[in-house]
Amino acid sequence: APVIVFENVSKAYQKGTPAISNINLQIRKGEFVFIVGSSGSGKSTMIKLMLKEIEPTNGKVYVNYKDLSRLRRGQVAKYRRSLGVVFQNFRLLKDRNVYENVAFAQRVIETPNRIIRRQVPAILSVMGLSDKHKSLPSELSGGEQQRVALARALVNNPIILLADEPTGNLDPKNSWEIMRLLEEINKRGTTVVVVTHNSDIVDKMQKRVITMNKGILISDEQKGGYTRAH
Ligand code: ADP
Ligand code: ADP
Repeated sequence: APVIVFENVSKAYQKGTPAISNINLQIRKGEFVFIVGSSGSGKSTMIKLMLKEIEPTNGKVYVNYKDLSRLRRGQVAKYRRSLGVVFQNFRLLKDRNVYENVAFAQRVIETPNRIIRRQVPAILSVMGLSDKHKSLPSELSGGEQQRVALARALVNNPIILLADEPTGNLDPKNSWEIMRLLEEINKRGTTVVVVTHNSDIVDKMQKRVITMNKGILISDEQKGGYTRAH
C-alpha cells in the first residue's frame, strides 16, 4: 500500500481561490519524489497537510497508513516525530552543538542513552560530520548545517523524509552534496519527498516529478524534468 495518499484534497485558507484543489496522489514506500511549481502553487500547503499542521477543507490525507483526520490531538506530536523533516532554513538549536542537536531528536522520544551514544556518532559519520560533533551551528557552513538537519531527521529511522526546499540556501556544490545524501538515504529504503525550485537538480536526477500550478496538480511523471511541464 502507498505510504502517502491524497484523496480529493482541497485546502482554502479563506474564502476565494483555494491554495490546492482536488489533489489525488499516491506515493509508494521507497519512492523518491520531487514536488515542483512556482511560488504560491501549493507545495508548502501539501507539506503542511502531511505534517498535520493544517487540516484539509475537503478530502483525506493518509500518511504511514494513518488517516490523519482521525489522529487524536494527543497523538499529533508523536506522529510528527515519526517523520523526518528538513527545511530551507535548517531550524537547528543555536545554543546546542552538533552532537546535541542530533541527540535531542532521540531524547524527546526517550531513547536510552546507550543507544544515543551509539546511533548519533553513526549518523554523523554517514553525513561526513564526525569531526564537527562539538561545533555550534554558527560555526558551520550552510551545507554542513543542512547535513546536521538531515542527521537529526534520520537518526530515528523514519519511513518518510519530507524536505521543503532543502537546497534553497545552498550553493550548487553543497546542493548536490545534499542531493547525493538524499539519494543514498532513499537507496537504504526511506521514502523521500523533496519540494524544490532547483530545476537543474530535478532535470539531472530523473526521478518522479509532480508539478503544481496554481493549486492544481498538472503533471506527474516518472523520470520527469522541471522544465518540460512549464
Ligand atoms: P508554495 O509553497 O508553492 O509557494 P503555498 O502552499 O505556500 O505555495 O501557497 C499556496 C497559496 O496559498 C498561495 O496563494 C498562498 O498565498 C496561500 N497561503 C499559504 N499559506 C497561507 C495562509 N496561512 N493564509 C492564507 N493564505 C495562505
Ligand atoms: P515558504 O517560502 O517557505 O513557503 P512563505 O514565506 O511562503 O514560506 O510562508 C511563511 C509563512 O507565512 C507560512 O507559515 C505560510 O503559511 C504563511 N503564509 C504564506 N502565504 C500567506 C498568505 N497569503 N497569507 C497569510 N499567511 C501566509
